[in-house]
Amino acid sequence: MEFNTSLDFALQQDKNDSLKHFRDKFYFPQHNGKNSIYFTGNSLGLQPKSTASYIQQELNDWAEFGVEGHFMAKNPWFAYHEMFAEPLSKIVGAKPTEVVAMNALTVNLHLLMASFYKPTSQRYKILCEAKAFPSDQYALQSQAQLHGFNPEEALIEISPREGEKLIRLEDILFHIEQNADSLALVMMGGVNYFTGQLFDMETITKAAHGVGAKAGFDLAHAAGNVKLALHNWKVDFACWCSYKYLNSGPGGVSGIFVHEKHTQNKDTFRLSGWWGQNKNTRFLMEKEFDPIPTAESWQMSNAPVLSMAAHKASLDIFEEAGIENLISKSKKLSAYLIYLIQQLNTELNSKKFHLEIISPLNESERGCQVSIVAHGLGKNLFNKLTENGVIADWREPNVIRTAPVPLYNNFEDCWHFYSILKKILNS
Ligand SMILES: *Cc1c(COP(=O)(O)O)cnc(C)c1O
Repeated sequence: MEFNTSLDFALQQDKNDSLKHFRDKFYFPQHNGKNSIYFTGNSLGLQPKSTASYIQQELNDWAEFGVEGHFMAKNPWFAYHEMFAEPLSKIVGAKPTEVVAMNALTVNLHLLMASFYKPTSQRYKILCEAKAFPSDQYALQSQAQLHGFNPEEALIEISPREGEKLIRLEDILFHIEQNADSLALVMMGGVNYFTGQLFDMETITKAAHGVGAKAGFDLAHAAGNVKLALHNWKVDFACWCSYKYLNSGPGGVSGIFVHEKHTQNKDTFRLSGWWGQNKNTRFLMEKEFDPIPTAESWQMSNAPVLSMAAHKASLDIFEEAGIENLISKSKKLSAYLIYLIQQLNTELNSKKFHLEIISPLNESERGCQVSIVAHGLGKNLFNKLTENGVIADWREPNVIRTAPVPLYNNFEDCWHFYSILKKILNS
């Protein structure tokens, strides 16, 4: 697609956007009486205007029915989580029986590792990305310790090469081969939270399986952002949060994927609780655990209905928009933003500063996130962006992460970001 830097171009793109009306379904933080340029949907997605009524429904049913709400509520709480199987399966490319919404992300990472990280003295290593999101690092370290291993020896961290920002697939594959006899698990982000790099999960999974290891992915920055086909890629397990691209509110319920080859196997170890028990016999309160042959058997507790109501409000919007449509808009939006930043470098032609895009320029290797290193510029730039109504994310010493998300951001947002940056850098 041919871009140009005029505001008219942006407005025209928005006019032709078949998803444009979804923007009105969200509340935007205000800046001087106008919508701010909200580019942090990768951190906390905006609130759908419908969320309050979804939560109110459950509050009303609780008031009206008390405990009977488990069966008499409009959306009976006993089966509340079942409503997420279909929409989540589309978002992550799974069968509805392979996904369930439960708990929080890091908790789920531990629960899944209890099933899929079963190290032996021979095979105990975990391959991960260097500088993974800190919570994942801590989780992996403590899992190694739980099994009596020294994290320093058990964790293999893959870094970008000297002078590079992205991790090369060939380097990941090399390390898998290199540790063929000792590798128990590959556990990485599907999309790196810092650079926005999307990894080739299918190839990585195949390589892990090739040496007898399992493959799991943290999809916090991937779910609702990039095309996923977890079932076909034969990924063993995955988990994600719902408050980033999935707009389900701060601390919103997480989701997990477990491949059916594991869910249907009664011998797969699960840390168990009553909500994982065969539904026909759950209330007989019998001693023997009979796991539901779906991802539901990883559930321990009954569903947190109030926070799940927010999840439902958001997933109903995803259903309406369609993940394929969203991804196709996302590719255009991020490509446009990248174009504008590159143009800005050319226009300003400064010897003092330079905006370097560290996210992959190849659209098949990224989602919507565009991470920018502001060479020669400091926090002052970020403060000025904030003063001008841009909500983005700053990482010391000089990285700005922006995420134009297809549900509620538009071309005009990208253009205003460019125009504000230009004004700041020209002054
Ligand atoms: C956002 C994020 C988390 C946050 O974990 P919580 O348990 O939801 O607090 C963990 N890992 C990654 C990769 C993330 O991006």
